Amino acid sequence: MSTLLHSRSRSRRDPGEFDDAGEEEMAGLSAKSDGPPMSKTRRDILHQQIRAIKDELGENDEDEDDVASLEKKMQEAGMPPNVWKHAQRELRRLRKMQPQQPGYGTSRTYLELLADLPWQIASEEHEIDLVAAKERLDSEHYGLSKVKKRIIEYLAVRKLKPDARGPVLCFVGPPGVGKTSLASSIAGALNRRFIRISLGGVKDEADIRGHRRTYIGSMPGRLIDGIKRVGVNNPVMLLDEIDKTGADVRGDPASALLEVLDPEQNKTFNDHYLNVPFDVSKVVFVATANRMQLMPAPLLDRMEVIELPGYTSEEKLRIAMLHLIPRVLEQHGITSEHIDIPEPTVELIIQRYTREAGVRNLSRHLAALARAAAVKVAEKDQSDRHTREMQTEVTQMIDHGGGGLIVEGAEVDMEVEAIGVQRQGSLPLAIKPEPLVVDEAVLEIVLGPPKFDGREAAERVATPGVAVGLVWTEVGGEVLFVESTAMLGKGDLHLTGQLGDVIKESAQIALTWVRARSAELKLPVAEAGSLMKERDIHIHFPAGAVPKDGPSAGVTLVTALVSLFAKRSVRADTAMTGEMTLRGLILPVGGIKDKILAAHRCGIRRVILPERNRKDLQEVPAPILMNMEVSG
Ligand code: ADP
Repeated sequence: MSTLLHSRSRSRRDPGEFDDAGEEEMAGLSAKSDGPPMSKTRRDILHQQIRAIKDELGENDEDEDDVASLEKKMQEAGMPPNVWKHAQRELRRLRKMQPQQPGYGTSRTYLELLADLPWQIASEEHEIDLVAAKERLDSEHYGLSKVKKRIIEYLAVRKLKPDARGPVLCFVGPPGVGKTSLASSIAGALNRRFIRISLGGVKDEADIRGHRRTYIGSMPGRLIDGIKRVGVNNPVMLLDEIDKTGADVRGDPASALLEVLDPEQNKTFNDHYLNVPFDVSKVVFVATANRMQLMPAPLLDRMEVIELPGYTSEEKLRIAMLHLIPRVLEQHGITSEHIDIPEPTVELIIQRYTREAGVRNLSRHLAALARAAAVKVAEKDQSDRHTREMQTEVTQMIDHGGGGLIVEGAEVDMEVEAIGVQRQGSLPLAIKPEPLVVDEAVLEIVLGPPKFDGREAAERVATPGVAVGLVWTEVGGEVLFVESTAMLGKGDLHLTGQLGDVIKESAQIALTWVRARSAELKLPVAEAGSLMKERDIHIHFPAGAVPKDGPSAGVTLVTALVSLFAKRSVRADTAMTGEMTLRGLILPVGGIKDKILAAHRCGIRRVILPERNRKDLQEVPAPILMNMEVSG
């Protein structure tokens, strides 16, 4: 082969490009067979030069070997015949190219992808064991009985009809409520591999379907990339945050997703980069979303929505004790011999350091405690080892009668201490670890001062013009303060706090309603008939950096304004939600369970809801309702 490469290199390059010595060497090489035997050094020089020339032409054996091994890999990939034909065509093109040539790299990467895709590789499908699946779900997740029941039903249908074209399960709920881990339990129950594809922020259709290869820097879409990474063609694929995809000028990712999820079309899913169809019909899709409302309707139509609204403090405590703490300790290589986190401490973490619907921050704080314990254990380990080494050294020296050797400088102490211990007859060889007991003081050292103290609401509504609202965001329900103030002006309304159009309109409606009812409400008016005469109103929604929108702040806005004009503070223990029309009708709003849980988390004990939302109270856990006064 080297002769072949050699002759090729001569034919491609202008002979004038070689320096004279090179030409002579070449001549020497061709004369090798019939001339006198060459010396070893001369032969070595010639070999070196051949290598240099091949390198320069990019024709070294390594590249040849590489292409050959790529071809072998492609043959083993078991591509369908039409794909194989296409791949061979591409491989022939690659063979004709020089590695430095533009397009060589992309062509190679493309063929590597074809060879890497699991055309035939699938996880072996066993019959689904429903009892084992239930045990697994129970052992990995606390509570969630309705959700687990629904998952078992789903698995039962798959067991009876493995190719059932049922809807795609979609877990909807705030972060940290166990959506991802439930999906991974489904993969476990089906004995399939699990892959998560994050769709949050995907605005470009090409993110799902790939860029055509003519595009510079083109890549396969996330779906094909995920399948390549997971290495089987029948994984459980979690389409995470499916509600966060949005259409813009670069196409509509939702339409690409629809194709992926459509059993009629997904046998021949066409990724633009791949340019040959790939069968994704064996993939089991599961989706997650934070909010259902944001999901494109056609997608929602293909999903079976399972809601996970968030946990009560009691549920969080149980989850922490039964699942999070053991998991966190294991992840940090420590055991309960090293750290003890008693229940009251976990309660403190839940109340003072977290304010969330799920358990993500709780888990993060527990990890911080575990890290602190790990440092303590590692330090102790090191000092034990040090003591042990010292003991060995000292013992050896004493045994050898060399005590005098160590009576030098800093080592004196060492000698004295070690001999002292030796005299007592026992060295601390294996010290049983003292667990780090996490109490309030340790919490403050590790996690810092508490973030929430339950007095926030009281402090913030101390002045007239502030009301407590309940809103629904993608991280679950939240308590929101609405602040309003009046100043000298021309009767304008100023709104701040990154508000969307709907919430701005709610503020307008609230102000109009209060102005129209000023007499009925007996609001002190500067001059008959005008609340706004020579004054401006400013309404602010903290936190100012978080975008807000939606109609459910209507009632809260009215309350804040009435409080402002009447110069009377609102009750700090009362939060409210509800949309208000211009005529003062209160319309029902969504997310009641999340909102009540949020109010409870913040220590609010009275909630005012639209009358027509009363039916939603059924969903709220009884222990929470018992602690609250809810009025319509
Ligand atoms: P999500 O996908 O909803 O954001 P994750 O599935 O990532 O949430 O959950 C975050 C962590 O909380 C995981 O470690 C998960 O196992 C744990 N977790 C959440 N809910 C439960 C539960 N009910 N029981 C046990 N662990 C839970």
